[in-house]
Amino acid sequence: MTDLQRRNLLKTGAAIVGATSFRPLWAAQDPDVVVLGAGLAGLNAARLLEQFGLQVRVLEASDRIGGRLLTLDDVPGRPEAGGSQIGAAYARVVDTARQLGLQLETSARSPLLKDESMVYFINGKRLTRDAWTRSADNPFPEALRGMPPDRALARLAGSSPLKNIAAWADPINFQFDVPVSGELKARGLSATVVHLLEVNNGYGETLADTSLLNLYYVQTNIGEVMKIKGPVQNVVGGNQRLPQAMAKALKGEVRMKSRVTAVNVGAKGVMVQCADGSQHKARFVVCALPLPTMRNIHFLPGLPDRHAEAVQQLAYGQVTQFHLEVLKPFWEAEGLSPYLWSDGPIERIFPQDEKGNGKAESLTVWINGAGTAGWDALTDADAQDRLMNELTRVYPSSRGAVRLARRVAWQQSALAGGTWANWRPGQISRYAQVLGVPHGRLHFAGEHTGRAIRGMEAAMESGERAATEILGLL
Ligand SMILES: Cc1cc2nc3c(=O)[nH]c(=O)nc-3n(C[C@H](O)[C@H](O)[C@H](O)COP(=O)(O)OP(=O)(O)OC[C@H]3O[C@@H](n4cnc5c(N)ncnc54)[C@H](O)[C@@H]3O)c2cc1C
Repeated sequence: MTDLQRRNLLKTGAAIVGATSFRPLWAAQDPDVVVLGAGLAGLNAARLLEQFGLQVRVLEASDRIGGRLLTLDDVPGRPEAGGSQIGAAYARVVDTARQLGLQLETSARSPLLKDESMVYFINGKRLTRDAWTRSADNPFPEALRGMPPDRALARLAGSSPLKNIAAWADPINFQFDVPVSGELKARGLSATVVHLLEVNNGYGETLADTSLLNLYYVQTNIGEVMKIKGPVQNVVGGNQRLPQAMAKALKGEVRMKSRVTAVNVGAKGVMVQCADGSQHKARFVVCALPLPTMRNIHFLPGLPDRHAEAVQQLAYGQVTQFHLEVLKPFWEAEGLSPYLWSDGPIERIFPQDEKGNGKAESLTVWINGAGTAGWDALTDADAQDRLMNELTRVYPSSRGAVRLARRVAWQQSALAGGTWANWRPGQISRYAQVLGVPHGRLHFAGEHTGRAIRGMEAAMESGERAATEILGLL
């Protein structure tokens, strides 16, 4: 179904629902649709299905609504540990927030986050941006010398040849589904450049592990998001308020602490089994779970081979964060910003300055990909010691000036299994076409099945697609 057909269906359906009322489609006590997962994708599917008069039940394993939207309300500066930036082009996210009476505000841009004040710590040496730009150790071409190396990656891999944002999943572009490392080598970039590009790469553990096509998708996504002028926004009070409001607005139940363990797809309906022994029957099911969590679910009949393989194999991003409460703004004594780019173990630091007045209440240490393993193996106490030692190497006056408030390692979360789909080379060609294909009465949603704008908007788009698939069958 095309986007236009989907939109028409939504319009026509709304008119029909206004004129008549739907009869229950299964049995009086059973919902028409069971939705697995109370993240944006599942909740958007549930919301739309209810708008068309269907009875919906949402099953959520956690005791928290929102999945990969996680606002750390108890950490000063209220950082987002999950999805943070809402672009003006996020039509579904913005519209749903408005419909639910939530306010969006321009994300406070701390003066501490200015690129020109970024501190570089490379090869064990601390440098200002100007000093890094002029440094003999800086291996980048002239135009990119003042840029954090991870941002230079997209520029050095070449401009995206994708004609539009959905073209990343078009077989015509599968020729680009190859390792970025090969492309960089072919472009004659030195090993030092490649090493620096690899640190803080958010799209694969290594560059050999990063698909050039996925990088083009990321580039095209940025272009698409920029087409609609407007500031980057967040939900007032935290992004997690959005899925919470979506869940609250549902008529049907959102059953918490209900971890799905089995899905039995029959000719006339679907039976879902939870770890607490409960069983849930419905005519249709929307599975809006991240793939790593689907690995623990028994599907009967089994998913088609390629889909089952994708569930097992698709790579998810790794991000470990340490949220540090600022007891003393140690960087001021050194005349620096806490905003850091480093090729050492702490990788990056983002000041959390909720009001945008330059007074960071907390700092987020953000470690990507392969760098996470060394941290995730440590106990909290050992991680804190290592963190303090590494931080004082960069900022000697930081000792005793921060406190570890929260640690989040997305790859260790049993209910997420990682940050987002990080297609490895060859995986877009092999799996992008199958992930959203229904398995009988079982429909699929989730960020990894989105086709256009990435992240939160992809999750919303996927929920809408799954809901319209079901509505199209009634
Ligand atoms: C660190 C980080 C930064 C990000 N930054 C941005 C950003 O700036 N902008 C942006 O647009 N996007 C960003 N994203 C991505 C965005 O947050 C996600 O794409 C989106 O929230 C995913 O929504 P979803 O509904 O597909 O999945 P999820 O939010 O993961 O929802 C799935 C739900 O299923 C539940 N669940 C799992 N297993 C089971 C089970 N067996 N039974 C029942 N329930 C289960 C989970 O608890 C969860 O609630 C970021 C993500 C992360 C992690």
